[in-house]
Amino acid sequence: MPLTKHLVFLKKYKQTSVHEYEDSNILNELANLKKVYVSEQDEVNSKFICCLESMFRIQYSYKQVWEKLRKKSFYEAWCTLEQCEIGLKRLLKHKTEIFEEFGFSQIFSSVLKLQSLYPYRYFLSPEILEKKVRCNICGNIVSMRNHCGHIVGEIYNGEYCYRIVEDLEFLGISLVQEPVQKYSVAFSSDTKTGNKIDQFDYQLLEYLLDYIKTDFESWDVIKTTKKFSIEYFKEIDGNDKCPCGSDKIFKECCSSKNELEIQHYEFLFDRVPETCNPYTLLDLNGKKYKNV
Ligand SMILES: [Zn+2]
Ligand SMILES: [Zn+2]
Repeated sequence: MPLTKHLVFLKKYKQTSVHEYEDSNILNELANLKKVYVSEQDEVNSKFICCLESMFRIQYSYKQVWEKLRKKSFYEAWCTLEQCEIGLKRLLKHKTEIFEEFGFSQIFSSVLKLQSLYPYRYFLSPEILEKKVRCNICGNIVSMRNHCGHIVGEIYNGEYCYRIVEDLEFLGISLVQEPVQKYSVAFSSDTKTGNKIDQFDYQLLEYLLDYIKTDFESWDVIKTTKKFSIEYFKEIDGNDKCPCGSDKIFKECCSSKNELEIQHYEFLFDRVPETCNPYTLLDLNGKKYKNV
């Protein structure tokens, strides 16, 4: 069966490098194979190949995420993580048992964990009024009252169904915490040049990157809160952000308390890291205080 080679490729995702994904002709080969199935009106196999194409893209993007993280290109890695997440969610209801052998669940949980270590909390979300929307499957214009019958996210003739917005009215931008898509992080900008400034602190990711050597090493993070004596926060300036994460300044928040309850991340690794100080107290202002 001509598919065997492709299944083998997808199964050895852990050992495959980013360059092997780029050099492989697998997407072209799958597309050609799909054409044959579509022409034979074989819905089951066309759909299966569409899912394999998605899985290939997910694996490849996930590898790219780690490449970008290692280069400390955190925002670029974030955007690629978002592509992974979109791909995984789209594939979720179509995947079969065999997709576990391609790392579906492992990649999914890792994507969510990595996202949780990012400091991004607010996103710019455009409000748009869609005026003319086309279905990619049948090519018809669709609206609430005039539905073509194709459902977004379903697979028809080996293609995911989506909508193409051909005309829209831009209503405005709002600042949100749960965006539809996560690309538009609210960065600051230089008032003179207008250039983007990355004001974020990626120390949780950096902490992880110090220990993780390969893309598929197992790790976990548990997010809790932990109380620390106020003694540990003596060096904080009253006008600095409060370490409790409230977004208020220290003197107007927790400075008079005896104890501070702060976010606490516990990292779990499969192997004992070579050098490790498990109780480094990391603060929100990018400084390390002192070891607890
Ligand atoms: Zn349609
Ligand atoms: Zn506080």
